Amino acid sequence: MKVFHTVSGLRDDLNKDRRRGLRIGFVPTMGNLHQGHLALVKQARETNDIVVCSIFVNALQFGLNEDWDKYPRTYESDCEKLRESGCDYLFHPDDIEMYPNGLDTQSRVICPTMTDMLCGASRPGHFEGVTTVVSKLFNIVQPDEAVFGIKDYQQLAVIRRMAEDLCMPVQISAAPIHREADGLAMSSRNSYITDEERPRVTVLKQSLEWIAEQIQDGSRDFSKLEQSAGQQLIDAGFALDYITISNSKTLEPAADDDIEITILGAMFTEKARLIDNLSIVLN
Ligand code: AMP
Repeated sequence: MKVFHTVSGLRDDLNKDRRRGLRIGFVPTMGNLHQGHLALVKQARETNDIVVCSIFVNALQFGLNEDWDKYPRTYESDCEKLRESGCDYLFHPDDIEMYPNGLDTQSRVICPTMTDMLCGASRPGHFEGVTTVVSKLFNIVQPDEAVFGIKDYQQLAVIRRMAEDLCMPVQISAAPIHREADGLAMSSRNSYITDEERPRVTVLKQSLEWIAEQIQDGSRDFSKLEQSAGQQLIDAGFALDYITISNSKTLEPAADDDIEITILGAMFTEKARLIDNLSIVLN
């Protein structure tokens, strides 16, 4: 695996690869890699000749009171894992390389759809930071395909919409959610969960599954289901951010006759904010 810290270094190699007709797959991450990230790399490996992974903890997508400075940075072990997963190029720029003109005056990419709701409501500006950095990374790598995790369902939907709106010549692919043995969705932020909380955090997934069962059994009182599931999180000792039953495509509140439904949830532990989601198709 070759490691690049500069845009120009990575571009030089990718230009040569592109001239040879090689197909380029891309997996953007913020590092502290777990099996979920590595599954994206393996998925990209299957359909591309060259797999590029980036590790960049993007300050632009963190709120002022969020964990940008504390975010786990585990560069050496990340490199090891990427090598073993068949990554060809690792792009690991620093802040100056990505934002040479500073953050304040950085040009931004704004996606007005789906970004103020759900995670966007509790993390103002977050998705603008995501769409901006992903656009920059797409311009740097110019991938044929980019793979994102369904774990961050709203992020995936926003990026799909951005790529469509801006005619970006990249195929956006989705990878399933990787979970721990007890069902907790893997996340770099799971290291913030205390030992005492750990057995209880599975309540998030369980509450989404409970809603799915109720809907599949014919219940259509979505707001009552959301309330009851939210109460399950509170009863387990966590603070509720949201539990929402949404239309899978628009992320707007689901209508009674929607066929594709995604149930999304977010809750706060003492030091972490955890998210999860579950999609169902009704027939
Ligand atoms: P992050 O480093 O957390 O920004 O995530 C980088 C990519 O990995 C994003 O596309 C995430 O959706 C994806 N990802 C993170 N956690 C998981 C997981 N548990 N399963 C699948 N993909 C994931």
